[in-house]
Amino acid sequence: MAKPVVAIIGRPNVGKSTLFNRLVGGRVAIVDDTPGVTRDRLYRDTEWQNTWMTFVDTGGIDLVEEESTILGQVRLQAAIAMEEADVIVYVVDGRTGLTPEDRELALLLRRTKKPIIVCVNKTDQFVNNFNALEFYSLGFGEPIPVSSLHGMNTGDLLDAIVQALPMNEEEHREPDIIPIAVIGRPNVGKSSLVNALIGQNRTIVSEIPGTTRDAIDTPFKANGQNFVIIDTAGLWKKKKVENGTDS
Ligand code: GDP
Ligand code: MG
Repeated sequence: MAKPVVAIIGRPNVGKSTLFNRLVGGRVAIVDDTPGVTRDRLYRDTEWQNTWMTFVDTGGIDLVEEESTILGQVRLQAAIAMEEADVIVYVVDGRTGLTPEDRELALLLRRTKKPIIVCVNKTDQFVNNFNALEFYSLGFGEPIPVSSLHGMNTGDLLDAIVQALPMNEEEHREPDIIPIAVIGRPNVGKSSLVNALIGQNRTIVSEIPGTTRDAIDTPFKANGQNFVIIDTAGLWKKKKVENGTDS
């Protein structure tokens, strides 16, 4: 599976590049400059809690003329982040507080369904009493104060990022077992087909917890992929009994 992408976005000068360097510093494995449209974006892979992810510093985006305003840049960054990121780290400046550009960016970010972590940078000495309320008002949950310059609290930020990754969220986890239902009216040979499928060149594996709904669910493995084959004969019979009919 491709590494999850974590985009660092925010208006200019909030410390995105400093944070990026801090987060990937010392753990850099691959430097990957993707050519083409994203010419000036910086991608680096890093690892935290045994999880590999690709950080993107969106600061170096080459701007076309009409997008060269701060607002234009902010919009462009938001669009890119929404498109390719799995998690967005939204960096604001704890010293200056929120600006109109910050709020504009927040408005755009609100449209994405992706997890957003507000990172209050430049919280150099006052981690415990920064103006959290102001940043809470952005509506993206608990802001995380850090000092990218001094490396303060960046571990907490990385923890939060890893926790927000799609693969760590139950509902987004890719199923590693593929269920196959064999359906047809009684006596067409469903069970024989199932037996033939499982019997040939396949390894029947032990019951995988939570996958076996009843005796006719048979887990097996083929080409390294787990399947569970469901012979619906049992369901059919049960329904007939419930309805009290016979056909
Ligand atoms: P970017 O435009 O968002 O990428 O911001 P930069 O990373 O280039 O940083 C802008 C300025 O903020 C630089 O002068 C940094 O040294 C400074 N800066 C970044 N992080 C911190 C921090 O945690 N504390 C302080 N005091 N300054 C910082
Ligand atoms: Mg930068």
